Amino acid sequence: MRALQTVLGKIRQAEDKYQRPPGSVRLLVVTKGQNIRAIQAVIAAGQRAFGENYLQEALVKINAFAGQCLEWHFIGTLQANKTRGVAENFAWVHSINRFKIAERLNQQRPPELPPLNVCLEVNVSVEQTKSGVSIHALSDLASQVQALPHLRLRGLMAIPEAAPDFERQLLIYKRVYHLQQQLIEQGMTTLDTLSMGMSNDFEAAIAAGSTLVRIGRSIFQ
Ligand SMILES: *Cc1c(COP(=O)(O)O)cnc(C)c1O
Repeated sequence: MRALQTVLGKIRQAEDKYQRPPGSVRLLVVTKGQNIRAIQAVIAAGQRAFGENYLQEALVKINAFAGQCLEWHFIGTLQANKTRGVAENFAWVHSINRFKIAERLNQQRPPELPPLNVCLEVNVSVEQTKSGVSIHALSDLASQVQALPHLRLRGLMAIPEAAPDFERQLLIYKRVYHLQQQLIEQGMTTLDTLSMGMSNDFEAAIAAGSTLVRIGRSIFQ
């Protein structure tokens, strides 16, 4: 799986270049639209953490690879009528954008499973159409989510609109980094995850402090 090794190599290079500790950036391989055979090749190469956007599509893959100790992350827009399937089958949700969704996940998380790891998706775009909690509502949502016993608030996620160059990408991702630092200063000291960076911009995201990059296209060319 040469593409996987290439991406992992670029992540390690970016850690080095931007003075990030070695191994501080994890790779999430995004498998939306990929078939079982394609995913099998990535698993055989040693990858364990995968991201999916759609519940029905994800459940087929989760069942196909049951017993292989994979870690599944839900990264798509989450509708209220899909929360149960997500609460029962995933280890992480990156796309919490309102309290109602968090509350349902908390109620529906099976008690025998560990708390569901969650990130709040923050809207750092100027476009009103982008999803995610607005910057001014972020702190209140974080406090509310932190109080839910079956969820573990781990940090922030962002999907910025495409930016033309590295400097612009860096600026936007640094804004997310600073929002997370503000929450930590407010006492949310357990936040340890910044889910940011995709195939086009993960180097800028790592420079800005990302701890988890979500990459699809570069791996499944
Ligand atoms: C598809 C997707 C990715 C991966 O994007 P690539 O450009 O294929 O690397 C990352 N995050 C989210 C939320 C996605 O939907």
